[in-house]
Amino acid sequence: MIDVAIIGCGPAGLSAAINVVQNGKSAVVFGKGPDAALLWKAEKVDNYLGIPDVTGKELMERFYDHAVKKGVEFNERKVSQIMQTGDCFSINAENNIYNAKAIILATGVERTQLVKGESKFVGSGVSYCASCDAMLFMDKTVFVTLESESGEAEARILSDLCRKVYFLPKYEFTKPVPKNVEILSGSLEEIMGKGYVSAVKVNGKEIKCDGVFLLRESVPPSSLIFSLATIGELIQVDEQMQTNIKGVYAAGDCTGKPFQIAKAVGEGLIAGIKAAKTI
Ligand SMILES: Cc1cc2nc3c(=O)[nH]c(=O)nc-3n(C[C@H](O)[C@H](O)[C@H](O)COP(=O)(O)OP(=O)(O)OC[C@H]3O[C@@H](n4cnc5c(N)ncnc54)[C@H](O)[C@@H]3O)c2cc1C
Repeated sequence: MIDVAIIGCGPAGLSAAINVVQNGKSAVVFGKGPDAALLWKAEKVDNYLGIPDVTGKELMERFYDHAVKKGVEFNERKVSQIMQTGDCFSINAENNIYNAKAIILATGVERTQLVKGESKFVGSGVSYCASCDAMLFMDKTVFVTLESESGEAEARILSDLCRKVYFLPKYEFTKPVPKNVEILSGSLEEIMGKGYVSAVKVNGKEIKCDGVFLLRESVPPSSLIFSLATIGELIQVDEQMQTNIKGVYAAGDCTGKPFQIAKAVGEGLIAGIKAAKTI
């Protein structure tokens, strides 16, 4: 059993993890390595106290090395769902299940624009997790978008279970596919239906389907954990970084502006200490 599972490997997640370990508890950070963090792309960072004129890559490497030296553990898998099971939490990371006593969400903000109709149909035919929801679409027709190769195992679950899969990869995809999979190109313009998904619009053309799987690198926090209170896609927290769910904390960009490193690191510290001291 992990003491504190931290979802997201950016400045907020790493700061939270260091402070969990510093307070005598175990921390596992879920998410791709430092090069996946937003900050990696910053050409120059000049407003982080004590470390002026540094590239985002350099700063992120220093954060990551610090966490490794402190004994933080890492798990490169993407988390698709968290469920409360009694006093602890069950984490689904690419079909592997882990248990933790407390959770810190440090997932940053989603910069992909939502598809028209997406938020209306979440839970009514739109899903972000094939391993969680594929069974609901057994022998049915689904439409799947995929951002990168790392999600192909998830997409395969759907081609195994569904009668027909329309597959729209957002990267160059040349692999052979089973007969029930039709590869599309272009862009998903709209998700349509009356109360439940019944079709999508791709390049102006309507395609009938029973469900839509948007397999993105990140998952909206509201669908990561049931009944999490959010304002839009930002997670609601109190001054101790606690969410409305006991044992679940949030830190960094995912809680709101300013979207800055110092704020992410500071909130990570508060969440890390609070989580470690509470369990
Ligand atoms: C080009 C650029 C320049 C910037 N320059 C500055 C600057 O000069 N000064 C400054 O203060 N700020 C700057 N920022 C902003 C700064 O990078 C962010 O405020 C900061 O990175 C937020 O940290 P975070 O940990 O909250 O989120 P992020 O850094 O976004 O990290 C979140 C991580 O969580 C991962 N994740 C999300 N969902 C999941 C999931 N379900 N499972 C596993 N992992 C998941 C993501 O892949 C990501 O790696 C800049 C940002 C950009 C893009």
